[in-house]
Amino acid sequence: MDLDYTQDQRAFRADARKWLEANVPSEPLKSFDTAEGAKQHREWEAQLNAGGWAMVPWPVEYGGRGANLLEWLIFEEEYYRVGAPKRINQNGIFLLGPTIMEYGTPEQKARFLPPMAASEEVWAQGWSEPNAGSDMANIQAAASRDGDHFVLNGQKTWASRGAFADWLFGMFRTDPESERHRGLTFILVPLDLPGITVRPIEQLDGLPGFAEVFFDDVRVPAEHQLGEEGKGWNVAMATAGFERGLMLRSPARFQATAKRLVELARLHGDAVERSVRDEVTRCWIAAEAYTLETHRTVSRLLAAGKIGAEASLNKIFWSELDLRMHELALEILGDRGELLPEAPAAGDVGGWLDGYLFALSGPIYAGTNEIQRNIIAERILGLPR
Ligand SMILES: Cc1cc2nc3c(=O)[nH]c(=O)nc-3n(C[C@H](O)[C@H](O)[C@H](O)COP(=O)(O)OP(=O)(O)OC[C@H]3O[C@@H](n4cnc5c(N)ncnc54)[C@H](O)[C@@H]3O)c2cc1C
Repeated sequence: MDLDYTQDQRAFRADARKWLEANVPSEPLKSFDTAEGAKQHREWEAQLNAGGWAMVPWPVEYGGRGANLLEWLIFEEEYYRVGAPKRINQNGIFLLGPTIMEYGTPEQKARFLPPMAASEEVWAQGWSEPNAGSDMANIQAAASRDGDHFVLNGQKTWASRGAFADWLFGMFRTDPESERHRGLTFILVPLDLPGITVRPIEQLDGLPGFAEVFFDDVRVPAEHQLGEEGKGWNVAMATAGFERGLMLRSPARFQATAKRLVELARLHGDAVERSVRDEVTRCWIAAEAYTLETHRTVSRLLAAGKIGAEASLNKIFWSELDLRMHELALEILGDRGELLPEAPAAGDVGGWLDGYLFALSGPIYAGTNEIQRNIIAERILGLPR
């Protein structure tokens, strides 16, 4: 692995920086967990797509730039450097998109990827059910075949941005006799079909972006099945690898937080205890280490490797680091850290509280860290169950 950037990579960075600096909204957008914010984020995504920056590693024919993963990491660094908005369609572009690239038919790729890149179609992830969270193989939502359709019945829950999404991807039990991870099929479902009820759930921050989704004899064309019938688990494991490992949480995000944290500690100078300053330094080093580790993974993927159970190591690392950085920021800020962003005296400190509330969920979503530790114990360390 060569840690020096090539001339082409430096030129790519300069292009990305120039476009982002010229186009990033001057005012922060509202949260995409509100109706108004969701609309603003869709407009931003359309602008990104028009500039050719919606999803740089995708092939040009699907709305990408044909860049490689290293260039994608460079783009992400520039994206976070200018403080560009969060990606409302992250379930689509980072998780489902790469899965369709791997498992989709040519028709599915042509049908789903371009509107995904433009965020004309925003996706929700429909895996969790009331009794199938960590134990995802316990999925009960059913799909029975009726001619050239599936008929869906059951419930999904905790669908991020489900309240404002257009489509949902999820696993459904297509073989009623099956158990655990067998007999599940990965199906793509438009959320406006008759028989679907989307009910928003208020989050810890009071915003209604989450949703539970109910299916009551919903008819979905069978061509919306992704991968083989009954083999949905394998397809979903590829998606989960993207979610835990690389695409969802690029290192640039944590480097940007670490940089802000260092600035915060500097600003408060002498008032910050030595032990806190040491911990800030450790976090900054950890963000750099995560970056180097990601470059190592990307080098391996570029040489045709695959991401496997090690995605679980990444997931624990980025989620715990993110939480620790936000805890430290609140420790440094003391009482001021509790100000909401809209409070007149908040200045630029309100973001830390919001960030902290979200960071609390890092060890839960994308599979809880307890489950990731089980995976590491069994599949990487070879410990008995
Ligand atoms: C912010 C956020 C966004 C989310 N977005 C989505 C989404 O878009 N789509 C979606 O489908 N889901 C989503 N989820 C749901 C998430 O994937 C689940 O919450 C998670 O998988 C845990 O499932 P559960 O909530 O049912 O908890 P449970 O499975 O009931 O677990 C409760 C606790 O028990 C522990 N536990 C359970 N089994 C074991 C075991 N075998 N060994 C050790 N410990 C165990 C867990 O680690 C956890 O601490 C989201 C969750 C959050 C917080």
